[in-house]
Amino acid sequence: MRYFPLFADLHGRRVLVVGGGAVAERKVRLLLEAGAQVLLVAPEVTDWLQSNSAIEIRRDRFSAEHFAGAVLAIAATDDPSVNAAVAATGRERNVLVNVVDVSELSSFIVPAIVDRSPLVIAISTGGVAPVLARLVRERLESLVDGSFGQLARLLERWRSRIKGSLPDVNARRRFYETVLRGQVATLVRNQDLQGAERELERTLAGANAPRRGSVVLVGAGPGDAGLLTLNALRALQEADVILHDRLVSDEVLNLARRDADRICVGKSARGHSVPQHRIHELLLEHARQGRRVVRLKGGDPFIFGRGGEELEHLRQHGIPFEVVPGITAAVACGAYAGIPLTHREHAQSVRFVTAHCGESIDTLDWPALAQERQTVALYMGVAGLATIRDRLVQYGRAPSTPVAIVENGSSAAQRVVLATLAEIEDAGLAAAVTSPALVIVGEVAALAEQLHWFGSAPVAWRRLRAAA
Ligand code: SAH
Repeated sequence: MRYFPLFADLHGRRVLVVGGGAVAERKVRLLLEAGAQVLLVAPEVTDWLQSNSAIEIRRDRFSAEHFAGAVLAIAATDDPSVNAAVAATGRERNVLVNVVDVSELSSFIVPAIVDRSPLVIAISTGGVAPVLARLVRERLESLVDGSFGQLARLLERWRSRIKGSLPDVNARRRFYETVLRGQVATLVRNQDLQGAERELERTLAGANAPRRGSVVLVGAGPGDAGLLTLNALRALQEADVILHDRLVSDEVLNLARRDADRICVGKSARGHSVPQHRIHELLLEHARQGRRVVRLKGGDPFIFGRGGEELEHLRQHGIPFEVVPGITAAVACGAYAGIPLTHREHAQSVRFVTAHCGESIDTLDWPALAQERQTVALYMGVAGLATIRDRLVQYGRAPSTPVAIVENGSSAAQRVVLATLAEIEDAGLAAAVTSPALVIVGEVAALAEQLHWFGSAPVAWRRLRAAA
């Protein structure tokens, strides 16, 4: 960052403005709004400047003495030598100087602003791209409408009362969030200021009632934060505590409210996880303290995520909950590998199956999975590739059926390996595929050759073997 952003208190302090034209006038207006005491130096000045008694005017050429007592100076003349002289004097005297539109000569710059006082948004590109700053300002102007200022003033009036009745910082923060996101803000936006005031009073009266904790079970998607839903984002921003799995990406966690507690209850493939009953206990403990708990899971919480069990436990104990679905790995990996999971010509249905090696893989309905014209998406299947191959072929799926292994789907590290059913174990080994990876079995897998669009091109087993 080239410039340090700050808002300066210029109330009653002297600011030197050199120049008396339209540009100087704009700066002076802003300075007066901020309560500065303006000394304006220029041989000629505009009528507005002339007629404004709050400004001290010297009809003079600039000289170094004009700096006496000034905390800031602005050079707004159309004479480059005068502007340079103001800048040089500022440097000598350690006074910050802005030469309008000349960042090389300026020791401070004046940002573009959206003024919803007391809310002020300042925008700067460090003088590099003023047009971009203006564009951003225009967007913010429409996004942050005038009601934000009214809302801020309303809260300013109520501030000490709110502080008095809600001495606890967290309670206060929650109160402000309710007010800013809820009915009070809506009423202000609709210009019903009296209604807003009544609603504020009512909300404040109820704010001290013990709060019921709750849990939101949120699907974090496969990793790319762009695949979160807006509801997931809102839940993350309102959370007091987040219990998340290991698979949830940092990119997603970074969107959570800064001061939310984060607890990783992740399960790694090799164990070392928080046991499920302990997760249940943690959910209860935090919710019972009146906190808003987000239980954040990779993909979708109801697809091989044990979300159902957690909700059963919460229901038993009377804790209210909500569920925000997420994009499950099969859907994300299909999309990001260029593999449509269904396709009129190749597959009429798709099955999501977990192929966690061990007993569960043997209890799968292999005859059904081996049927033609369907796609099978296998979660947690990397360790079970040999079993997947043997059973599917045993129950009639052709050994030549295309297969894709999608590792780290949708992330920068995504890899897609293409093979046939007969070859998947060898392909998985040769490519050293690791978790998380999803195995897609079915004719549609071959479409990745033509339809891939994200990350590196898929690697075909033929090529892997040739390279070996
Ligand atoms: N609830 C999750 C699945 C949890 S099971 C969901 O809906 O996606 C964990 C398995 O999901 C992993 O072993 C892997 O098979 C798959 N998986 C999750 N994220 C993945 C990703 N980014 N790329 C490939 N597979 C992924």
